Amino acid sequence: MSRDAGNDDQRVSEESMASGIDELSAWLDAAVDPFVACDAGENVCFLNAAAERLLGWTRAELIGQPASRLFPQRLHRHEGESLLRHLLSRRAALGGRATRVLARRKDGAEIMVELTVGASGKGRDERIVLNFRRLHEVVDTLAEPVERALHGRESESVPGDALFRTVVEHAPLGIIYFDLDAIVIACNELFVRIIGSPKRLMVGLNLLSLRDEGVLHCVRETLAGHTCDYEGEYRAITSGKKTPVHIRFAPCFNAAGQVEGGIGIVEDISERRRAERERERLYREAQEAIRVRDDFLSIASHELKTPLTPLSLRLATLERRLARGELVESSTLRQARLYLLRITSLINDLLDSSRIEAGRLALHREATRLEGLVEHVLHELEPQRGNHTVRFDAPEQPVQVNVDPFRMEQVLANLVENAFKYSPNGGTVRVSLRQRGGLALLSVSDEGIGIPPDQQKLLFDRYFRARNASAHSFGGLGLGLYISRDIVERHGGRIWVESEPGHGATFHVALPLMAGAPARPNVEEPGQLIH
Ligand code: ADP
Repeated sequence: MSRDAGNDDQRVSEESMASGIDELSAWLDAAVDPFVACDAGENVCFLNAAAERLLGWTRAELIGQPASRLFPQRLHRHEGESLLRHLLSRRAALGGRATRVLARRKDGAEIMVELTVGASGKGRDERIVLNFRRLHEVVDTLAEPVERALHGRESESVPGDALFRTVVEHAPLGIIYFDLDAIVIACNELFVRIIGSPKRLMVGLNLLSLRDEGVLHCVRETLAGHTCDYEGEYRAITSGKKTPVHIRFAPCFNAAGQVEGGIGIVEDISERRRAERERERLYREAQEAIRVRDDFLSIASHELKTPLTPLSLRLATLERRLARGELVESSTLRQARLYLLRITSLINDLLDSSRIEAGRLALHREATRLEGLVEHVLHELEPQRGNHTVRFDAPEQPVQVNVDPFRMEQVLANLVENAFKYSPNGGTVRVSLRQRGGLALLSVSDEGIGIPPDQQKLLFDRYFRARNASAHSFGGLGLGLYISRDIVERHGGRIWVESEPGHGATFHVALPLMAGAPARPNVEEPGQLIH
């Protein structure tokens, strides 16, 4: 072999070694498990990408640093040796299984992990390899009591004598016990159920590694010898389930009066919170009902008073004229009568509304020709017509229904009066009556202010007045349509509205014909609202 050939071989083998290391490093980065390697002096010489993610350190930051930085200080030395040496010495006993231990992230947070430690090489060439796993990913592990061995309590899930343990396990509240380092030593089953994290995650957890500032404050206060109350939503470590809890933290003192740990008594307050929310909702509804009642009383008083003043003036005029022996004008008498009718109608609406609420509005049905009823109502309302033109689109055939004529007149009169009232600039009010299928269809349309779309389905509610009606200061109690709907529906019919704000409104009433099938309004017409 020539010299050059020898150099070439060496270069090729160095290159292939370098590419082999790159490849190995790429494989380790692709591995899911976090992985850290240290030299004989326990200084980090490699970590893979998963370890960077788990521990919060970048490779550049951690390489060369002592591996002890990855663990809380209280764990650095164990039974006279470093933690890593201790775990190495326990390898045979562990049989290759992982040890549960608290690791420390760069940001100081402590996380429970399962750690396997192995070594290769000797002397200066020794390499110690740390393999981490998040606790919940591990199925088969030993609870090697590194953490609890420090406190010598590893054999007990709930410390204390049998009686005490029974009381704690069966207490109707969650109970957690932690030591001076805020490490959870024990908890009862109810605590586990309330919080929703498994016991194996809770026992050994450092409470100071939690993110909830309220809990951290209470734990610190407890370890300083004070009781403290926490109320908030605890978020389970694994499931993320949030539970509203109240926790009373209290310190535990030893015989010398020094704090040696603390307890948390945990109450699930989900029910209490729900009850509070329900109470708040009922309170808001009650307030709203009071507001509606007060508004109604003031509107009703105003509405009742409005016709009284002119009525009293007309009567005074009449009295004066009669006293002087003067001629009494029939128009004055007619106007006085109209005001009286207005008051009567308001009082009737109030009475009808209470009858409806009490389910006592009686109907006296009889065979009725609807076209005759419409003509009668339009004639009666003639004095209120003002500058409106009224057109009645009468049917060719008589339309016979079995209704209470007085109540049906009331419905139609309310619709026509509204048409007059809510078209203050006059225009045409059209009343049409026809038959379709087994139904009598009656409609009243006007060219007035119309109704905003979002208010249309509320019009038939008790006391409801659309905002444009109130804004224009039109008087009214918001009862007419409520009463009309009740009357129509009790006749097996339906009432609904179609309207475009500013372009008038059309109210439709559908009633079953006398010999007809049960009424359903024809819902094929687009955009109609059926109530
Ligand atoms: P009132 O007219 O006494 O307020 P109603 O129950 O008869 O009570 O009507 C309820 C509401 O419906 C009215 O306040 C008004 O906002 C609206 N409304 C009724 N009819 C019409 C109509 N023809 N045009 C516009 N809005 C109307």
